[in-house]
Amino acid sequence: MQVFKELEKRGHEQVSYFFDPNSGLRGIVAIHNTVLGPALGGCRMWDYVTEEEAFVDALRLAKGMTYKAAIAGLNLGGGKAVIIGNSKTQKTENLFRSFGRFVEGLNGRYITAEDVGTSIKDMEYVRMETGYVTGISQALGGSGDPSPVTAYGVFIGMKAAIKERLNKTEFSGLKISVQGLGSVGMSLCEYLYNAGAELFVTDLDQVVMGQAVDRFSATPVESDAIYDLDVDVYAPCALGATINPDTVDKFKCSIIAGAANNQLIESDFGDKLKKRKILYAPDYAINAGGLINVSNELEGYNRDRAFSQAEGIYETLMEIFQRSSSENISTNEASDRQAEDRINKISGLKSFYLPYKKSFKIRNV
Ligand code: NAD
Repeated sequence: MQVFKELEKRGHEQVSYFFDPNSGLRGIVAIHNTVLGPALGGCRMWDYVTEEEAFVDALRLAKGMTYKAAIAGLNLGGGKAVIIGNSKTQKTENLFRSFGRFVEGLNGRYITAEDVGTSIKDMEYVRMETGYVTGISQALGGSGDPSPVTAYGVFIGMKAAIKERLNKTEFSGLKISVQGLGSVGMSLCEYLYNAGAELFVTDLDQVVMGQAVDRFSATPVESDAIYDLDVDVYAPCALGATINPDTVDKFKCSIIAGAANNQLIESDFGDKLKKRKILYAPDYAINAGGLINVSNELEGYNRDRAFSQAEGIYETLMEIFQRSSSENISTNEASDRQAEDRINKISGLKSFYLPYKKSFKIRNV
């Protein structure tokens, strides 16, 4: 593998490999871009088959974080860490403290958080070694579960989408399907129900389905039937890649707006939705509430401020929709261009990242 060629091709600044035979840590931190601020992104623990797979995943995920932070208007760059290992059998205090020491060694260029395979508890071990970690429990002064802010941001983003596509400012009379009734989906249902929407819901878990039916008078729907329901909005809040060759021609909705990450199986599916006149709210723009929440922790967590910042998702989406119309491009392409424009403009102001300690308060560890 030609590491520098890969970094050049994908536009990354830095990749660091960490190894500690004592704890068994084999980790990679990828920093994509720090023009806007220190690179923030979760730490994923996964049993990668090859080191190359881990490297490529770290690069891919780090780049995604750059765009997410940029479009959310945050002064953060994009980074991601991966730890190679089985998250069910190989987690130890030693491992995460060792990882924390390596993160500390990056001196603020990278700030970590939980991700797939890691938990708030693991991040508390990391915090014993470094202050460059966020998403800590509320009991320890952190921001806690980001899902409520994510759900609120999706609700606000959906408001922008119904204004743009249906010229509506109210949800009453609208039919909305929600796929996935976990932390975000259930909370989103509550906002929508209180706003007067008629809900159609699906989840693999029959218990949570029953709860949504009872609490929100929702109509339960079989798993695959969610794609061709005659609704105004489809809100994917479970897995990624639900906009794919099997589903794209089935949709009868006018809008797709939900929390799930990586909703498009490939970016050109954004063009297919555009051709079908379905307004797609780009996933990383509408679900930025979670990132907004953890970024708030860096400045001393204030829940009201996090919710109020998430309201900015309305304007962000409106700008994306306008750009998509005026340049005749898909909304996901418009979103990427908006994010790149912001980075390029700021890079004209300063060419190097501001050291983390100047930008944010840092907790004592
Ligand atoms: P969660 O694990 O709490 O809930 C996911 C729900 O989806 C579960 O109830 C699960 O049973 C259900 N599900 C899984 N596969 C399904 C399928 N095929 N059909 C129907 N239901 C299915 O997750 P969450 O925290 O609510 O996050 C939901 C999505 O939003 C994820 O894609 C996540 O990556 C993304 N996201 C979450 C946040 C956050 O703050 N939690 C932030 C940004 C993005």
